[in-house]
Amino acid sequence: MKIDLERLGHGSTTFEITVPESDLSPEPGIHFPNGASAKGTVASGSAGVTVSGEIAARPLIDCTRCLEPVEKELSFQFDAVFVRPEDFTADKEREVHGEDLNVDILEGEQIDLYSIVREQLLLEMPEQVFCKEDCKGLCDRCGTNLNTDECRCKDDDIDPRWAALKNLK
Ligand SMILES: [Zn+2]
Ligand SMILES: [Zn+2]
Repeated sequence: MKIDLERLGHGSTTFEITVPESDLSPEPGIHFPNGASAKGTVASGSAGVTVSGEIAARPLIDCTRCLEPVEKELSFQFDAVFVRPEDFTADKEREVHGEDLNVDILEGEQIDLYSIVREQLLLEMPEQVFCKEDCKGLCDRCGTNLNTDECRCKDDDIDPRWAALKNLK
């Protein structure tokens, strides 16, 4: 969903959107079965455009160890600042970074809310997710999920006598 800045002029508008999963183009191992919702304000002035508001989503993220999807609840505030290319001077960058905001350069006369939501979500995504604190993960030899199943790989390593018995069968 795009906001036309020429039509907005120097002014502001509010938005309340649901971004479908297909427009979030998530990374491998991350799914947004219900998309993401966002609401906030787009304010355009001589200094540039500020998009601020809040984003909520319940992504399914694969457990870092066993790859089972884990539902996470994300809800956070964001501010994204866009400046016109001609205003993007070193001074401006220093000034805005001092306020600890994200700064981007405007590309054309449109603001794409979907891609802003996507970027903000990526910034908030946890690096590691575990289905439970003591997740046993997958066997690195046969790929069995050791939380729900056992495999014989370890036995083979530990006790060669069992391996010998198995060969007799
Ligand atoms: Zn796990
Ligand atoms: Zn195994």
